[in-house]
Amino acid sequence: NEALLQVDHLQVHFPTAGGTVKAVDDISFQVKPGETVCIVGESGCGKSVTALALMGLLAESEGCQVTGDIVLADQPLNKLAKQQLRRLRGNQMSMIFQEPMSSFNPVLTIGRQLIEPLQEHLRLKKKEARTKAVELIRSVGIARPESMLNAYPHELSGGMLQRMMIAMAIACRPQLLIADEPTTALDVTIQAQILDLLRRIKEEHGTSIIFITHDLGVVAEMADYVIVMYAGKIVEQAPVIELFDNPKHPYTQGLLRSKPVLHKHEETLYSIPGQVPHPLEIGDYCSFYERCDYATSKCRSSRPHLQTIGDEHKSACWLHEKEAAHNDTKHTATA
Ligand code: SF4
Ligand code: MG
Repeated sequence: NEALLQVDHLQVHFPTAGGTVKAVDDISFQVKPGETVCIVGESGCGKSVTALALMGLLAESEGCQVTGDIVLADQPLNKLAKQQLRRLRGNQMSMIFQEPMSSFNPVLTIGRQLIEPLQEHLRLKKKEARTKAVELIRSVGIARPESMLNAYPHELSGGMLQRMMIAMAIACRPQLLIADEPTTALDVTIQAQILDLLRRIKEEHGTSIIFITHDLGVVAEMADYVIVMYAGKIVEQAPVIELFDNPKHPYTQGLLRSKPVLHKHEETLYSIPGQVPHPLEIGDYCSFYERCDYATSKCRSSRPHLQTIGDEHKSACWLHEKEAAHNDTKHTATA
């Protein structure tokens, strides 16, 4: 198998007073070496929970049940001991978050927070680690890296901090970088610079990236492959060009229409009417039913499963069933 990361039947369940919340409900996907996979969806669809589950950062929190298989470079992540997993985090996979402050200790200098992990993970002497830290800071586009070493996190702008978080995340050359909305809090210019930086990291080091976003503009710029999540499930997945040219699931079609239309006088923002169903009210039928223009009674009575509808293209919608059946009949008729 050529996948760097293989995820099979991942489920994340949280027990709550009202019942079990299936934040992630049986999703499977893979990430190939050097590939950027974007996970896209509205907030609450399960994309951040998926990222935390992959990093092994959920199992520790009370009551949360993670099941399924997560295999990174032949290592079954969810079967590793905590200590092994901790070593893997940082070395082979690391994560960058929307809020960079959360990755830093506010009372320690940036230099210390960068140099110590380098010493520990790469077993470098302090002086070597310092040299490596300066190199890293320069590589994320900071002109005077030495000045950064003595700075405290609160002294840096949001964009600078984001760069420093990326420097920390790539310090040990991870094979997989997971980025959860890393540019959402930044203004457009800085956002473009950070996206450039991530693309450069991918090109120079062949790093695979899982990029989580609700922004289809970002998806268009970053993705090789796209996974669309809705209410804890994957509803559609396809290579990026195929997804934009030929979206099949009504939810994906809605998301694409909701992109702001540029170069127009009145910027029309289409938004999909209605809301994501409450996690406790998701039944055994299509979770997009309430918002879908194409819904039929079948959609209300049974749940559509992901089916292959093209090359590396899958979608979970009863509409395709008809299409598939139709194609089959045509096939038999002409055969
Ligand atoms: Fe719409 Fe039915 Fe397809 Fe769900 S299964 S997206 S309700 S057409
Ligand atoms: Mg999120």
